[in-house]
Amino acid sequence: MTYFDRQTDDRPLTPTEVMDLMRRPAWMERGECRTERALTLAMAFDHDTATDLFVPPNGAGRRGMAEIVAARQLCESCPVCTECRDFALSNHPQTGTWGATSLQERTAMKKKEGRT
Ligand code: SF4
Repeated sequence: MTYFDRQTDDRPLTPTEVMDLMRRPAWMERGECRTERALTLAMAFDHDTATDLFVPPNGAGRRGMAEIVAARQLCESCPVCTECRDFALSNHPQTGTWGATSLQERTAMKKKEGRT
């Protein structure tokens, strides 16, 4: 069982909910998504929190894709990108950008590594 099996409804947990519910690994505090830069970028998309860049509330339409691109740019300059990607590969979040990867990319990586 992984952390993500604990949810009780069908709604995927957002990264913020995950962080609130779990004991946060120390590296998360150093994420670029927790910086003023991330918040400023999120506000440019009319969001109140950077989380909405990583899990666009309106899905992956044209606007959502622009948000995902912005999230990836943050990830690519993040000092803990490798830790974040490894965490996502081990804990299986079903949504969101983690370590500059989408769910589809993480699924493909796990398949390639024989981890599925
Ligand atoms: S890699 Fe991306 S999602 Fe992960 S901590 Fe860094 S900025 Fe946040």
